[in-house]
Amino acid sequence: MCNEGKRIWNGKRMNPHYQNLVQRLEEISHLNGVMSTLGWDQEVMMPPGAADARAKQIAPLAGVIHERMTDPGLGDCLNELAVVGYAGFAAAEQCNIREALRSYELETKVPKRLVQELAELSSRGHGIWVAARQKNKFADFAPVLQRFLHLRKEWAQHVLPGLDPYDANIDLFERGTTMSMITPVFERLKTELIPLIQAIQNQADQPDTSFLQGRFALDKQEALARRISREIGFDFEQGRMDVSVHPFCGGSHPTDVRITTRYSERNFIESLYAVIHETGHALYEQGRPYELGDLPVSESLTMGIHESQSLFWERMIAQSKPFCQHYFATIRAAFPENLQPVTVDSFYRAINVCKPDFIRVEADEVTYPLHIILRYEIEKGLFDGSIPVDDLPLIWNELTRKYLGINPPDDAHGVLQDSHWSSGAFGYFPSYTLGAMYACQFYRTLLNERPDTEQNVAKGNFAPVKNWLNEKIHHQGRLYTPQQLVEHVTGEPLNPDYFIDYLKGKYRAIYQLA
Ligand code: ZN
Repeated sequence: MCNEGKRIWNGKRMNPHYQNLVQRLEEISHLNGVMSTLGWDQEVMMPPGAADARAKQIAPLAGVIHERMTDPGLGDCLNELAVVGYAGFAAAEQCNIREALRSYELETKVPKRLVQELAELSSRGHGIWVAARQKNKFADFAPVLQRFLHLRKEWAQHVLPGLDPYDANIDLFERGTTMSMITPVFERLKTELIPLIQAIQNQADQPDTSFLQGRFALDKQEALARRISREIGFDFEQGRMDVSVHPFCGGSHPTDVRITTRYSERNFIESLYAVIHETGHALYEQGRPYELGDLPVSESLTMGIHESQSLFWERMIAQSKPFCQHYFATIRAAFPENLQPVTVDSFYRAINVCKPDFIRVEADEVTYPLHIILRYEIEKGLFDGSIPVDDLPLIWNELTRKYLGINPPDDAHGVLQDSHWSSGAFGYFPSYTLGAMYACQFYRTLLNERPDTEQNVAKGNFAPVKNWLNEKIHHQGRLYTPQQLVEHVTGEPLNPDYFIDYLKGKYRAIYQLA
């Protein structure tokens, strides 16, 4: 499909409206690259004193991008192409037209008043959320949440009037995914994972994690992280690794991908696995088919698919026994005082410890989905009106007890822990667990197609894994919807059984459960 796209690309008979569209879309992509570099700079390099000046630089740039995206000329161009019809275009070109139309509609169907109020509430809401979390007082944040709920429902009516308002919000992050698909899958996860977690908690023989605490020299941590990131495939010629408060993957282009991490002297696992996670995101970005142009077709697909790539490397590969077998000697050599008496097996058990905790971002792979399901059920209830905003702390704590068997001590460890709602991002959370399930299903397919994968990983030969992901997922850009991609790669739609079987098999062995 890609080749077909390219041929027409370089051909002489390009439709003039399409040519016009390509110019406009590439310009928008380049402006977004500038914005993205500024964003990276702000998190990594910028002196704190420059915050005001930077805000003044970003605002007009955001304005220019918005103007380009909502330019009536772009609308005319799309109308002309609608008259011609899709049939004469190659798949990659059809993808560009389809994606341009979607983003144009998302940008232009919403009244200016609503766009402005959403933007204003996002910036004000964040400050209110930070202060409420510090004071442990949900009531201070409740009016922001209430207003966001109202605005996001209104937004949904404008952009996707045919969908339930919560489905429309989910669609923004995970295109084509609806509650009717998520709810039964999450119900199955609950049925299987809650008893598994209870059995793990009841097991007397818990993994020893004491050797993961101590002092771990920062320069050794960084050297190790860089080495592993490079060996699993991150291209430092077209990317960088730096330090920021929260790890992320950014950059301006597949040839300029920037990951970050943070180091703590007392915990090297956290930063190492953050680097592996972000490397997974980065490999997706570096693998995008930009030879098709800086156009929608060469962009990454959705939040859920992106997360499937980071979790693929973090969990399916780096938390596996073969990976530990390959790297443990290197890791022990970096921290001999801490790890001298430790075996590969006890290291593997320690990095896979399962323990319910209050904070989502610190959760292990077994308990994590329940953090997501709890948030999903609350968002669903907020949108259908069955959960009043004021009851959120009570409901949050009740569900945490029910799903994880623990009781949040305060709102900061409960309903106020995540920043998502402070910017009105409803429908984002399910992407994390969809990503985890996609990662598992992709990995299962890889094992079927390349049965020597685990032996390769144990030898530190990661190229076959990376090449497989490049070919099956990264190079596909946006040619498929997430649902189509999963079917195309694995031969079936999202199937939670792979994730459940993986978790049950792995953790029954680690915890020696019957
Ligand atoms: Zn991620």
